[in-house]
Amino acid sequence: MTSPNDPQTRPHDVLVIGAGGAGLRAAIAAAEAGADVGLVCKSLLGKAHTVMAEGGVAAALRHVAPDDDWKVHFRDTMIGGKYLNNPRMAQLHALESPDRVRELEAWGAVFDRTRDGRILQRSFGGHSHPRLAHVGDRTGLEMIRTLQDRAVAAGIQVYMECTISRLTTGPTGVTGAVGYWRTTGRTIVFPAKAIVLATGGIGRAFEVTSNSWEYSGDGQALAYDAGAELIDMEFVQFHPTGMVWPPGVRGLLVTEAVRGEGGILRNAAGERFMWKYLPEERRHEYAADDAEAATWVTALSQSKQTDARRPPELSTRDNVARAIYNEVKEGRGSPHGGVFLDISYLPADHVRRKLPSMYEQFKELADVDITKGPMEIGPTTHYVMGGIKVDAETGATRVAGLYAAGEVTGGMHGANRLGGNSLSDLLVFGMRTGAGAAAHAQTVDGEPHMDPVQVRGALRDLEAPFERGSGESPYAVLRALQVMMQRLVGIYRIEADLDAALIELAELRRRWAEVCVDGGRTYNPGWNTVFELGNLLTVSEAITRSARQRTESRGAHSRLDFPDTDDAVWGHRNSVIAKGDDGRMSVHTAPVPDMDPELRTLLEADHR
Ligand SMILES: Cc1cc2nc3c(=O)[nH]c(=O)nc-3n(C[C@H](O)[C@H](O)[C@H](O)COP(=O)(O)OP(=O)(O)OC[C@H]3O[C@@H](n4cnc5c(N)ncnc54)[C@H](O)[C@@H]3O)c2cc1C
Repeated sequence: MTSPNDPQTRPHDVLVIGAGGAGLRAAIAAAEAGADVGLVCKSLLGKAHTVMAEGGVAAALRHVAPDDDWKVHFRDTMIGGKYLNNPRMAQLHALESPDRVRELEAWGAVFDRTRDGRILQRSFGGHSHPRLAHVGDRTGLEMIRTLQDRAVAAGIQVYMECTISRLTTGPTGVTGAVGYWRTTGRTIVFPAKAIVLATGGIGRAFEVTSNSWEYSGDGQALAYDAGAELIDMEFVQFHPTGMVWPPGVRGLLVTEAVRGEGGILRNAAGERFMWKYLPEERRHEYAADDAEAATWVTALSQSKQTDARRPPELSTRDNVARAIYNEVKEGRGSPHGGVFLDISYLPADHVRRKLPSMYEQFKELADVDITKGPMEIGPTTHYVMGGIKVDAETGATRVAGLYAAGEVTGGMHGANRLGGNSLSDLLVFGMRTGAGAAAHAQTVDGEPHMDPVQVRGALRDLEAPFERGSGESPYAVLRALQVMMQRLVGIYRIEADLDAALIELAELRRRWAEVCVDGGRTYNPGWNTVFELGNLLTVSEAITRSARQRTESRGAHSRLDFPDTDDAVWGHRNSVIAKGDDGRMSVHTAPVPDMDPELRTLLEADHR
């Protein structure tokens, strides 16, 4: 008879961990390069975050705005990222995203159309032109459906509801992964010549988030433990528009497409407050008044060209989130602690056609008809710009054989991500990383040897919470972590709070080491939470240490004690987190990678 401690063994050339857009695209590319590929995901195939993406995928296709091209997209991305982006990543992303979107279409994705039958594109904050290819407000669903079909057709072996809890390494780099089936609790090991991490973000570290239970920073923590570096972890994106009411759905995303289609933000006094918050140096890019903004919206809704500039609500996410936070703090908020977002002035059938999910979401969850009145919204933790440091060309980390793509990585988006740039990031770097991992696998002879001591250690750690007999519930520690991170490391930060957070994190880690779970291994969410909580503690510490180190405000990182952007000290520095030889977390800085002189000329007019 087998016991849960007798792991199954499934060797692969390339093991892809995560089956969202990045993981699927990487798996397809690795399989096309001839690798034997295993694809693991901890929920059902198709249930990744990518499926939740609403607004669209950014690519300079030039179907709606002939003046657009990759150079403008590159420039917008760098400006949005406050110049902390890895410039080569931003360049590759802007250059290659049109081909990746066309490829999706060729594989069967059905996008919304222009009148002459081409892929329609919509506006989003910080993009100079309408650039987001979309399918109503269900773009991610179409994307994942298309990629999934392609992956299954490529014969990729899929392991669903299987959580990877440890990576193993040897003298030549990564050797495999250890995990368990969530359904049965049985353990499994994957010897692999190359591994791609595509596990997404960290939103569950905070109390209010648009992210699902899956975003527990697993990939960031697995990579950190295996010796990779994390960069720019202080840059956590608080999306300006999440639901604030009723309490059960607080944080649920209200897509930026609402503002992209003309949604107006007002405070409790009815004031269109975003006029006050446009950064002076970018004000010329926005409409001068309500009349010009209305002209822009009318032209958009009729798919017509216009010289009118975009409305102030389409400022970058960091700026809009801070504006809302200020309005509420200064007493001009809505009854449930948010502000109002109104699209009901447009024809009802147009709103229902362009924003079907938002219409249903508010009707069903809040009993609000968005074609008749405003929504109540407020900021919600949404995305992490920081993550695993990778090579722009191949997705390689500094651990040989370990690769990463998608939201789990850092560098592409700098200090603030523009909406729509994640889905295109997944496609561009998913493909590059899958190819990079497959090329590495070809250089490895024979099946990699997984160190039995490391494997036994990983299996013991999985068993430990059952063996303690008594102890605190992991849910109590998780809740305490989320409340603390929201309170001390949220939209606005200050040194005293960050110091207090580090002390609390040490105490939470001590409590975590003593948690205990009841029941067996079969579908035991408490047991799953123990492992995820450990990862959330690691990423929370990385966020807090990086936030404490960066003594300036930039993009999504706002310090009340250092409110200005300090280009002289921080303008060209990434934050870097690594595990020291003593096992402790260290934080330092490294220069932003050099920019090709030709690229620099594209930014010169803008560079402060
Ligand atoms: C509500 C919402 C709307 C969004 N809208 C947009 C949009 O319109 N445009 C845009 O560009 N971006 C959007 N984003 C952001 C974008 O969806 C995500 O950044 C992107 O989908 C991340 O893709 P990914 O492949 O990196 O990760 P995911 O799609 O989240 O996939 C992660 C995968 O990793 C697996 N996994 C995690 N940990 C483990 C583990 N330990 N073991 C095994 N498997 C594991 C998960 O099961 C999952 O399969 C939105 C995000 C949200 C939450």
